[in-house]
Amino acid sequence: SREIQLAARPQGAPKDSDFALIERELGQPGSGEVLVRNLYLTVDPYMRGRMNDVKSYTPPFALNETMTGGAVGEVVASGVDTLKPGDLVLHDQGWRTHAVLKATSARKVDARPGVSPSAYLGILGMPGQTAYAGLLEVAAMKPGDVVFVSGAAGAVGSAVGQIARLKGAGRVIGSAGSADKVAHLTGKLGFDAAFNYKDGPVMAQLREAAPDGIDVYFDNVGGDHLEAALAAFKVFGRAALCGAISQYNATSAPSAPRNLALAIGKQLTLKGFIVGTYNSVFPQFVQEVGGWLASGELHYDETVVEGIENMPRAFMGMLSGENTGKMVVKL
Ligand code: NDP
Repeated sequence: SREIQLAARPQGAPKDSDFALIERELGQPGSGEVLVRNLYLTVDPYMRGRMNDVKSYTPPFALNETMTGGAVGEVVASGVDTLKPGDLVLHDQGWRTHAVLKATSARKVDARPGVSPSAYLGILGMPGQTAYAGLLEVAAMKPGDVVFVSGAAGAVGSAVGQIARLKGAGRVIGSAGSADKVAHLTGKLGFDAAFNYKDGPVMAQLREAAPDGIDVYFDNVGGDHLEAALAAFKVFGRAALCGAISQYNATSAPSAPRNLALAIGKQLTLKGFIVGTYNSVFPQFVQEVGGWLASGELHYDETVVEGIENMPRAFMGMLSGENTGKMVVKL
C-alpha cells in the first residue's frame, strides 16, 4: 500500500513537507477481515483540526502514522461470507491505496447507475448528510425562509443551498471566493443571489443581497461571515454553526464576530452541531437527496485530483478554495 503520513504538525497553512508518502507491505486478510483497493479518497476540512495536537471531537492524527479518513474501495480478497471480491465498500481507512480492515467496519454500498462511487464521500455521504441535517433539523428551515449559506460552492454549502431551494425557501443567498463560483451558484445551482466575499466587506454585500434580512444562516466559515449574519438576522433567526474554515489555519484568535449581543434582542438560536449526532436522519436523507439526484433536480459537482502522491496537494487545495463541490482523490 502507498500511504500518506503526517510528517510534521502544520503551523498555519499546511505545506508539502508536513506530509510523507510511504510504502508498506500488507498481508492477506485474516478471518473477519477484507483487503480493499481504494478507488476514491476524501479530503475534508475537519482533517486540518486533527493535524493539531489538541483535544477535539476527533482525536489528533499521530505523527509518522498513516492518516485516516473516508474512502470508497473495492474488495479484492475477503475473509468473511458477507463481502466478496468486487463489492464496493465505504470505510475510514483513507489516505492510502489499499487497506486490510475488519469487515464490520466497512459498509457495503450499491453502485448506482449514473452516480460515481465517489458520491458516497460527498452528496450521498457525510457532507450531504451534514447539509441535510444542519439545514432541516438544526436550523429548522421552513418554507418561505430567507436562507444564507457561506462556503456555498463547496461540498456542504452547495447541497445546503439546493436543498433550501427544493424545500421552498423564499430566497437563497450564497457566498464564495471567486467570480466563477458566484456565477455557478446563481446559474446551475439556482441560488437567488450570491457574492464573492473577497470583493468587499461581507456585511455590506449580504445587506445588498438580502435587503429584508435573513431567517436562517448555515455557517461554514465563521469570523466576519458570522458577524454579517448576526447583523442581517430577522427576529427569531436561526443559525446552524457547522464550521469555521476561516479560522482553521489561523495562528491567532479571530477578531469577529463582535456583535454577538444582537442574539439577545433578536432572540436568535445559534446552534452548533456535529453530523454524527444526526445519524437518525440518514435513511430519510438518502431517500430524499438520492431522489433529487436521480431526477436531476439537485446538481452535484466534484473536483477530482488523481494519484495518492497528489493527496496532500488536494487537501491544501481544498483549504484554499481550488475545489468547486466536493474535493476527492481518484486512485
Ligand atoms: P468545502 O468543499 O466547502 O471546501 C472548503 C472551502 O472553504 C473551500 O473550497 C473554500 O472556498 C472555502 N474557504 C477556505 N478558506 C476560507 C476562508 N478564509 N473564508 C471563506 N471560505 C473559505 O468543504 P466541506 O463542504 O467539506 O466543509 C464545509 C464546512 O463544513 C467546513 O467548515 C467544515 O469544517 C464543515 N463541516 C462540518 C461538519 C459537522 O459535522 N459540523 C461536517 C462536515 C463539514 P472559497 O473559494 O469559497 O473560499
